[in-house]
Amino acid sequence: MKLLIVEDEPKTGDYLKQGLGEAGFVTDLARDGWEGLELAKDGHYDLLILDIMLPGLDGWQVLEGLRRAGVDTPVLFLTARDRVEDRVKGLELGADDYLVKPFAFTELLARVRSLLRRGRGGLEPTILKIADLELDILRRRASRAGQRVDLTAKEFALLELFLRHQGEVLPRSLIASQVWDMNFDSDTNVIDVAVRRLRLKVDDGHGIKLIHTARGMGYVLEQRREDGE
Ligand code: CA
Repeated sequence: MKLLIVEDEPKTGDYLKQGLGEAGFVTDLARDGWEGLELAKDGHYDLLILDIMLPGLDGWQVLEGLRRAGVDTPVLFLTARDRVEDRVKGLELGADDYLVKPFAFTELLARVRSLLRRGRGGLEPTILKIADLELDILRRRASRAGQRVDLTAKEFALLELFLRHQGEVLPRSLIASQVWDMNFDSDTNVIDVAVRRLRLKVDDGHGIKLIHTARGMGYVLEQRREDGE
């Protein structure tokens, strides 16, 4: 799952990006309202963490612009001002939750997970599967044939992306934008190395192989008895 953080205060922004990264989320960080709105409009995020006091556009204006553009990504507002009228205004504009600064990271994480669960409306499964491989999105766990598979945050995000697009060839550029930072240079072999490592963890020792190379195009997740490569 991919999150956008819009926060101008460098310390808070970096802290959030690092903490959420360690918790297994892919994040982008915008430092002002304009950048935040632009990214939020076409970044395909699952959740926005939006500071209210921002240079450029404030958090409310970002949210307004977003809803006007028809983007209904859930929004968690961060506010330093614990004032009733702020909350009312934000809720009227369609914010989904609030957190008052300063906050404990565990509290933020709990709200983020709850919003992501709610955002899926209970319709989309939070456990993704193919063959005997399972990925529990909310509990951040992977298993194959009932055995726990330990994944790094990037490997988890990569596997989640594959599982959401089973049977589709995913170009490296798409993988780069969804799993690594936006301006990732897709000419490097970082993606190939990561996929190889993931494949070792997921497919090694199993008769049915799941991760395959689509030569010159990218990678695909599907069940094949033999690798065929
Ligand atoms: Ca701020």
